[in-house]
Amino acid sequence: MAVIEDVVCPICGCVCDDIIVTVEDNKIKKVKNSCSISATKFLNFHKHRLPSPLIKKDGDQIPISLEEAVEKVAKILVNAEYPAIYGLALSSCEAQGLGVELAEEIGGVIDNQTVTCHGPTALGLHDVGMPTCTLGEVRHRADLIVYWGCNPEEAHPRHLKRYSVLSKGRFRKEREERKMVIIDVRKTKSTKQADLFLQIEPGQDFELMSALRVILNFDEIEEESVAGLPIEKVEEFAELLRNCEFGIIFFGLGLTMSRGKERNIDAAVSLVRDLNKWAKFSIIPMRGHYNVTGMNEVTAWQTGYAYAVDLSHGYPWYNPGETSFVDILRRGECDAALIIASDPVAHFPKEIARNLCKIPFAVIDPHPSISSLLADIVIPSAFTGIEAEGSAYRMDAVPLRLKKVLEPPPGIYSDEEIISMILEKIRSMRG
Ligand code: SF4
Repeated sequence: MAVIEDVVCPICGCVCDDIIVTVEDNKIKKVKNSCSISATKFLNFHKHRLPSPLIKKDGDQIPISLEEAVEKVAKILVNAEYPAIYGLALSSCEAQGLGVELAEEIGGVIDNQTVTCHGPTALGLHDVGMPTCTLGEVRHRADLIVYWGCNPEEAHPRHLKRYSVLSKGRFRKEREERKMVIIDVRKTKSTKQADLFLQIEPGQDFELMSALRVILNFDEIEEESVAGLPIEKVEEFAELLRNCEFGIIFFGLGLTMSRGKERNIDAAVSLVRDLNKWAKFSIIPMRGHYNVTGMNEVTAWQTGYAYAVDLSHGYPWYNPGETSFVDILRRGECDAALIIASDPVAHFPKEIARNLCKIPFAVIDPHPSISSLLADIVIPSAFTGIEAEGSAYRMDAVPLRLKKVLEPPPGIYSDEEIISMILEKIRSMRG
C-alpha cells in the first residue's frame, strides 16, 4: 500500500495541491483532504471507461487498433480544408502545446472551452488589463472578499476554506478578521457564508459597477435605486470597498455570460483600478475546468492569443465571434474536427451540435460522452492527474505539477502521447 501526498486535484480551477491518496494494487483506496466532488472522482474515475479505440461503421461503433485509429484521425484532418481542434481544458499543458502544434500543422482552428465561459474575461483583459494577485496573497492578506456572479460553495467547494474567507492566513487568521460579500441574482448555498448579500436584478451588473465608481469618485447619483438595490445599500457597499486594506473580487459566469459580457469585465477591472486609490485591490476569475487557464496560457505563448485562434492563413488570426469553434461550425465552414477531453455535442446549442455531427470528427477522452457516442473515431485516453502526469495552471495562473498515482489500463495512453502519435503520422503522410 502506498500513501501519496501533495497530489494535485485535476477537477476544478482551485487545483488543490494537498490531496493525499492511498493506492493498493493499482487502485485508489482512500482520498484525504478532498471535497466531495474530488473524492467521488478519485474513487470512481475508473468506472465507465472507453475500453478501446472505436470506429463508426454502418451506424455502429466497432473496436479497431490504436494504430488504425491514429491513421484514420490523421487522414480526416489532413483531407479537410478547414479543420478544428477543440477542448484540452482537462488536459496537461504538455498535451495542450502539442494540440496547438497539430492545429498549426493542419492549418486549422484551435479553440477551447473558454469560448463558452470566460471568453469575455480574455476580451476584457485586452481592453483594460487585469490587476491581479495569487490565491496565496488572498489567503494571507485579504480582509474583504467579494464573490460576484459565482457560487463557490458548489462549483469550487474548497475555495472558501483554502484560499479565502475561512482560511487561516499568515496575517488574517480568524473569520472575524475578514468580510465576505456576495453579489448575485439569486440566493445560493454560498450566500449563507456572506456578511453582506446583495441580490441584484438580472443583467444589471454593469449598472451597479458604474454606480459604485461614481460614488467612489465622490459624484452624486440621483436615482433612488440601482440594479434593484436601494441607493443607501449601494453607498454602504462602496464604503466597505473603500475602507478595506486588501480587497479581492472573484467573478464567475454571472458576469461573463450575462448581458454586457466583456463590457462587464471592463467595468469590474475599472472598478478595481479605482479602488486601488484607497486600498490594495485585485481581481481573479473563477475558472471552472482545472486547466482551462493553462490552455489559455499555452495557446497564448504559442500563437499570441488565448483561444479561438485560426491558423489556416499560415499565421495566427484571432477574432472571437468569427474564428471560434462554435462560429465556424454555425456557419457550416468547419469540415472536420478533433475533440479532446470535451463534450461539445452536450454543451453547444442544438443547431451547432447538429452541424458538428454532419462532418467527420474524432474524440479523445477517458470516458464515453454524447460526443464520443456520435464520433467517427474514438480514442480512449488516460485520466490526466491520476494516470498521467503533467503541468496545470490554477485559476490565478500559478503552475502546478500533476502527479501520476496509478498506471493506466493496458494500451491506454495519455492525451499528450496520442496527440504526438497523430502529429507524427500526419508528418510522415506528408513526407
Ligand atoms: S475544490 Fe476543486 S480542486 Fe479542490 S479538491 Fe475540490 S474539486 Fe478538487
